[in-house]
Amino acid sequence: MPELPDVECFKMYLDDTSLHQEIVATEVPDPGILDGISARPFQMCLQGESMEATSRHGKFLFVHLKSPPCLVLHFGMTGYLDYARSNELPKHARVVFRFAGNGRLAYVCQRKLGRVTITDDREAFLQSHQLGPDALDEQLTDRGLAERFAGRRSAIKSAMMDQSMLAGVGNIYADEILFQAGIAPHRRVFELDDQAWRTIFRAMHRVLQTAIRKGAEVSRFPPTYLLRRRGQDGPCPKCNRQLKTTRLGGRRTCFCPHCQQ
Ligand SMILES: [Zn+2]
Repeated sequence: MPELPDVECFKMYLDDTSLHQEIVATEVPDPGILDGISARPFQMCLQGESMEATSRHGKFLFVHLKSPPCLVLHFGMTGYLDYARSNELPKHARVVFRFAGNGRLAYVCQRKLGRVTITDDREAFLQSHQLGPDALDEQLTDRGLAERFAGRRSAIKSAMMDQSMLAGVGNIYADEILFQAGIAPHRRVFELDDQAWRTIFRAMHRVLQTAIRKGAEVSRFPPTYLLRRRGQDGPCPKCNRQLKTTRLGGRRTCFCPHCQQ
């Protein structure tokens, strides 16, 4: 499921392939993917426009057009972008932007849990979707993070995945961040002291930035990363003891009972 690093990589991909080209047609083979707008007005909004810049907040990608509104892409469980200079479309293409000069950008989403929409006001959109600060927001500090979560009784992993508290971290990266921080995923938020928050904050930055640098491809992550072993019930990459898989807040959770306290 695309989380912050994946969406940041989609952003770079779009920047590399699709900026500053006139949109000559927009196809919506599956209008069910559109949120709050039907196909015809959506197509009208994009006609003759061009994608001029992108920005990301949490798992949302904003594509700023030559003139407002702004296109918003969310990738659900299985979404990604595919650019090509060909008429052929990938299977499960839900929206296709065709550019002058034969290129096309397809928004592909097999399980249809992603959403495509437009907004006139990025800030209002973030508020109406109750999104907390982006996990890599430069204004966010370890102290600020601790204050946001202060007093909560939920498990730290569940709290980190709550997009209204912190935007961008989901099930996969919450496991990695807590593994790198040496904090057990079921520890209660209110039990964490300042030192623990500092450790989590630093691990969060290190993990997310490393993942972005590695193109969000788990096979390229450092050998000490949990995600390379997750799902294999293998030994811990740090202490070689058996990893444990459990469910927390209904989500599959992998951790090392020895390295994470
Ligand atoms: Zn371990």
